Amino acid sequence: MVQRIYAISSKADMQIITTNYIDGDFRKSSGTSEAPLYNPATEQQIGTVRLSTFDDVDAAVSAAKASYPSFSATSIEERVDMLGRLAEAVAARSEPLATAMREEYGAPSGFVSFSAERAGTVFLDMARAVIDYPWRQTIGSAEVEMRPLGVAAAITPWNSNIGFICAKLATAVAAGSPIVIKPSEMSAIQTQLLLEALHQAGLPRGVLNVVNGDGQTCGSALTAHPDVAKISFTGSTATGRAILRAAADTMKRVTLELGGKGAQIILDDADLDRAAEQALTSGFMNSGQACIAGTRVLIPSRLKFAFEQKLAGALSSYPVGPASDPAARIGPMVSQKQWERVQSYIALGIEEGARVIAGGLGRPDELDRGWFVRPTVFSDVDNGMRVAREEIFGPVLCILSYEDDDDAVRIANDTSYGLQNYVLSGDVERARKVARQLDSGRVVINGAPHEPMAPFGGFRQSGMGREYGAFGLTSFLEPRAILT
Ligand code: NAD
Repeated sequence: MVQRIYAISSKADMQIITTNYIDGDFRKSSGTSEAPLYNPATEQQIGTVRLSTFDDVDAAVSAAKASYPSFSATSIEERVDMLGRLAEAVAARSEPLATAMREEYGAPSGFVSFSAERAGTVFLDMARAVIDYPWRQTIGSAEVEMRPLGVAAAITPWNSNIGFICAKLATAVAAGSPIVIKPSEMSAIQTQLLLEALHQAGLPRGVLNVVNGDGQTCGSALTAHPDVAKISFTGSTATGRAILRAAADTMKRVTLELGGKGAQIILDDADLDRAAEQALTSGFMNSGQACIAGTRVLIPSRLKFAFEQKLAGALSSYPVGPASDPAARIGPMVSQKQWERVQSYIALGIEEGARVIAGGLGRPDELDRGWFVRPTVFSDVDNGMRVAREEIFGPVLCILSYEDDDDAVRIANDTSYGLQNYVLSGDVERARKVARQLDSGRVVINGAPHEPMAPFGGFRQSGMGREYGAFGLTSFLEPRAILT
């Protein structure tokens, strides 16, 4: 039976969050300013979160540091047991977590179900990685042992708040490193509900610490803190750069999971109906607010017109609406700022000469409030246009045409990003041949399902390092060689 813990108080339907999670307890933040929290489908304020200070971050790092000697000495069996308890605790709260995600973030029900379910399983995936991991090896005359590297810190974005916190916590626990997490200040209700669940797992004090606050104060305090050995960051490329610079002074190990501008290459033997469906699934996932969205759709020039018709047809089965509507496949943008950003890119595409084949500026006609945008598809896009080069982070697709497979590979690789690309073909071997030429951390063929043990991360400005499975675990460890 899960007890409700002091974390959120309600005042006239507002959720007032004033606590952090430090050293195994919910503690009042010492901050004096607050940030508003909104329901993006109604634009109504639904709560506030207290923004923490350097002192709160310092207290969290101190608690983590104090727990390091004993936690880093725990056995593999003990850590696997902790990961199992974390998985159970999160699974037991999947319903309230899903509700919070719908209200505070607005994600469509398909994304909510996947995320709420996956949030717990990530601990079990990491437990498998721990069991199979080569913790000790002999290399020549050296005995090499993989050691936890000290206090870890994680900084996460709003577009999959629960998932990112769980994935980074799972890796830290697996490695034997205590962690301090600064989640997005826009996801505080989801964070507090998740913390209530994680608290039930009974981790040793100081192993998990979470501080609510903004990037400028709390994020920067973590990246500069001398007692933090590792930063695991997911967010925009611009913030990733700032973090990398700040971390250099103390030589922190840094993993960066940043933005993307993935290509979906539709080869000329692909079934066009299926390709159109797939292009929307991969392009509009999580309402387009996904780093792995395949937002550049590459089609052979001779098939462009037929594909445009199919895509416009398939788009009619993509209703836009609030997360409370189970039929809705595209929800609101997370904030007014994000809505305005997406609008500015739609205006830019029109200005740059791209042809609108669906959507356009403004809110969908049937919705009178909420930060909803019209799912928009541009055709006749040149890869030099800014709408093809910059991450928009909303439901906006660009169709580009190509002449042959080599041309498709050239266009797909002509980007500063390299997170996840897609290939669609009637011939899997041919698709593999194309996939092997793409400069990205992952390539998905014909809508293949997620593989949680495979490395995830980006080439180029999509990031540094990898997460998940053994590769993710390695990034939280240091090898120590003992020579005799
Ligand atoms: P963001 O970079 O604005 O913020 C991410 C986090 O960094 C937040 O917690 C924020 O408070 C913090 N932050 C901001 N400035 C900081 C600073 N100077 N120092 C330390 N921390 C700071 O990103 P966002 O708008 O929250 O998220 C959207 C972005 O995240 C998109 O670019 C998207 O592609 C990217 N993303 C990447 C992945 C991936 O795995 N590659 C996954 C999801 C999202």
